[in-house]
Amino acid sequence: MRESGTDVILPRESDVLRAAERIAGAAHRTPVLTSRTADARTGGRLFFKAENLQRAGAFKFRGAYNAVSALSEEARRRGVLAYSSGNHAQAMALASRLLDVPATIVMPLDAPAMKVAATRGYGAEVVSYDRYTQDREALGRGIAAERGLTLIPPYDHPDVIAGQGTLALELFEETGPLDILVACLGGGGQLAGCALAAAARSPGCRLIGVEPEAGNDGQLSFRSGQIVRIPVPQTIADGAQTTHLGLHTFPIIRDRIADVLTVSDAQLVETMRFFAERMKIVVEPTGCLAAAAVLNGLIDVRGKRVGVVISGGNIDLATFARLLAG
Ligand SMILES: *Cc1c(COP(=O)(O)O)cnc(C)c1O
Repeated sequence: MRESGTDVILPRESDVLRAAERIAGAAHRTPVLTSRTADARTGGRLFFKAENLQRAGAFKFRGAYNAVSALSEEARRRGVLAYSSGNHAQAMALASRLLDVPATIVMPLDAPAMKVAATRGYGAEVVSYDRYTQDREALGRGIAAERGLTLIPPYDHPDVIAGQGTLALELFEETGPLDILVACLGGGGQLAGCALAAAARSPGCRLIGVEPEAGNDGQLSFRSGQIVRIPVPQTIADGAQTTHLGLHTFPIIRDRIADVLTVSDAQLVETMRFFAERMKIVVEPTGCLAAAAVLNGLIDVRGKRVGVVISGGNIDLATFARLLAG
């Protein structure tokens, strides 16, 4: 780990390799999918890393399991707390159950019902809050201090970032070095982790992050060189309704990423349709961010070997049907 100012210890390539050892046997090694249709449409050779098929339905299980595994015996006994709009919650609930650690999860009142039910189903205690009026970070810190719990945030944590990077390690192991890797961007855990994995296994690979048009704080931050905060964005990409990058993710993104792009909600829905019709997979809106940029020609992938992260598949079928019909 490398010091960067006070308190912030950035994860390094070696932390991703160690995370891969920790999560081996617990996380699924998800498949890498290809599509002749997608290749023909874009002119590139695309490799989709299908984290919608990960345990608990998203790549977040990697970071959660790595972070909980890294805790001391004493910290594990007391328990963990997480705040999340959904997938980190489920991931923390499942990882904690597997590691026999009590979990408390702070979730927004308007989180998708399926995600709340799944989190409770894994045995976690759920505490609700209003995401438009309450500060979840302050609330989470308060409960953690009161109960002696260790707070594991959804992206701004070295072990979480390192864990997320294992998805790209696996991808490179399967495909060899790539020209471009496109990741989905919320708070930046996935993108920063992938950048570290690329440095270890595919130096020279261009990393691109994609976020929702309505929530382009990552793009503003990347282009201005400092963390820009925005109000909670209104988008169907509920896993990327973040208002700012993290103190741990931003420096890695600033230093190692080629660009940050944005896509519209309509493009996300078209990509969900593509995945369902052509590739026979269910992908949630946030999970479509990277693919939407590639399939809509925002990145020139002609003649290139390109990794595309499909980051999650947690969406209830009623919502899925409503979005595709609308
Ligand atoms: C959390 C999440 C993201 C964004 O990941 P960050 O690490 O916050 O950038 C993307 N897709 C899905 C499905 C997610 O759950």
